[in-house]
Amino acid sequence: MTEQNAIANYYKYTGKKSFNFTTALVDMDGVLFDSMKNHTRAWVKLMKKNGIKCTRDEFYMYEGMTGRDIIKMKFKDGAGKNITDDEAQALYKVKTRYFTELGDVEMIDGTLELLKALKAAGIKCVLVTGSGTHTMLERVDTDYEGIFDKQRITATDVKRGKPNPEPYLKAMAKMNAQPNECIVIENAPLGVQAGHTAGCFTVGVTTGPIAEKDMYKAGADMVYKDMASFQAALPQLIEALKTTL
Ligand code: CA
Repeated sequence: MTEQNAIANYYKYTGKKSFNFTTALVDMDGVLFDSMKNHTRAWVKLMKKNGIKCTRDEFYMYEGMTGRDIIKMKFKDGAGKNITDDEAQALYKVKTRYFTELGDVEMIDGTLELLKALKAAGIKCVLVTGSGTHTMLERVDTDYEGIFDKQRITATDVKRGKPNPEPYLKAMAKMNAQPNECIVIENAPLGVQAGHTAGCFTVGVTTGPIAEKDMYKAGADMVYKDMASFQAALPQLIEALKTTL
């Protein structure tokens, strides 16, 4: 896929004729931070303590959903239990504690440089995450200082997490931006699906075990293998997005 083909394809399925790139809507886990390894470990620990069978890998596939939704789904499917929102919230607190106990996570290689390049090109960056993990949200302001607009969407802002488009629709509403002004940057199929359904030009970056083809299948317009490749292609992408029909 070339950037030119990707935008031509985007125009074809959206019916749009132009793109005015002003805003990048940026996911957190797996995009800003290499946090998924510890998240999947914490999830398995929580499930085991509650007698629910699971594998670590499955949690990569749920990435993007809110913790509350993952807990409700797993307790229903794995134990036949209907968990209330309050119970799910309490269990999510336990999972967050397990995650925090696993220690600090690294930044994803190349993301800071990529976001700096976007800022230098005059693009606004907005954080859009299903996460409610305060330790990580606080790190955004220090590790990615000066990058993000004050507006952000987190777990507390949305009723329906990814793959529902609500987080991205809310972010666009806050920024007063149209779908054909925004690119979404995601690392997981459900997040890609949310960005795609919201009508944005969606870029998948395979920073974890998910295959490129699964990102395209979820609706990615363009997939890069890492942040450095994305940054190297950024000038072509910005040029391609200026194409009009
Ligand atoms: Ca993610």
